[in-house]
Amino acid sequence: MAGVAGFPRSNLAAPAGVPRLRGPTLIADMHNTETSISSTTSSPALFRMQDVSKRFPNGTLALQGMSLECGDHEFISFLGPSGCGKSTALRLIAGLSKISSGTLEWPNRQAAATGGRELSFVFQEPTLMPWTSVFNNIWLPLKLSGVSRDAAAPAIQKVLDMVGLARFADVYPRELSGGMKMRVSIARALVTQPRMLLMDEPFAALDEMTRLKLNNDLLAIWREHRFLVIFVTHSVYESVYLSNRVVVMAARPGRVIEEFQIDEPYPRSEEFRTSSRYNQHCIAVQRTLYSALDGDESADH
Ligand code: ADP
Repeated sequence: MAGVAGFPRSNLAAPAGVPRLRGPTLIADMHNTETSISSTTSSPALFRMQDVSKRFPNGTLALQGMSLECGDHEFISFLGPSGCGKSTALRLIAGLSKISSGTLEWPNRQAAATGGRELSFVFQEPTLMPWTSVFNNIWLPLKLSGVSRDAAAPAIQKVLDMVGLARFADVYPRELSGGMKMRVSIARALVTQPRMLLMDEPFAALDEMTRLKLNNDLLAIWREHRFLVIFVTHSVYESVYLSNRVVVMAARPGRVIEEFQIDEPYPRSEEFRTSSRYNQHCIAVQRTLYSALDGDESADH
């Protein structure tokens, strides 16, 4: 599911011990108990961006020459410091902002639709409506596309089950913890059964224990329901734990500097989190990230 055309350019030496993504990856068979998403078999891309740049009207080059191809069932993280263009890339993919140059293609025409059931967004803030129930918050995207409350009820109950909030349909957001609000936000994103879930630092504001739990629950949902996740994060550890690919980015201008394949089977658990393989991946990704940061600092002087 990965880059047929134009992988991100790398300006850094390959860290030892961790494979980089080179060729097409494949859609995993999620019915297997243990899932491996490898880079050996090709499958149709959900979207393909090639040499994409974004310059804002004020002259800021937010993203330069990004190439990426994603398949139906990948978990891809965009990792990098503030200002490296992660959110810009996400917004371009979502069609919320227009590219300045390059191409962004959706080989499967259906998937090109940004509305409807193809694509959902989860932000750092849960952005729930405080004046109404959890049920009504989750109903919103279906309501906006004309689905009645009664018709939506089974789908809403299903996503509430998925995020572990089956008994909270009638509760108001103010009665929920931060982690629970984020679960509602994820349920609202999933209720339309999107093929693609775009997540912009969704767990950044949560405490560590809640974040680890949500990481595990998100992975379980993703494995069962087969959608593409693009996950923006600052955390090396989170990106390696969750993803089958980590796209490392740097700022000024925002760009991709390296892409890593985390070729480890799912499900992933505490055993993986405490393994030497996990550590190896984290060290390699971190080294690349820090090299880019060093480059940025020296550019300042
Ligand atoms: P990240 O998500 O990695 O923190 P962003 O994609 O938000 O980075 O921003 C990348 C760069 O583009 C930053 O320098 C930011 O200030 C700039 N930028 C983002 N949005 C706009 C905008 N609407 N107008 C001008 N500059 C912007």
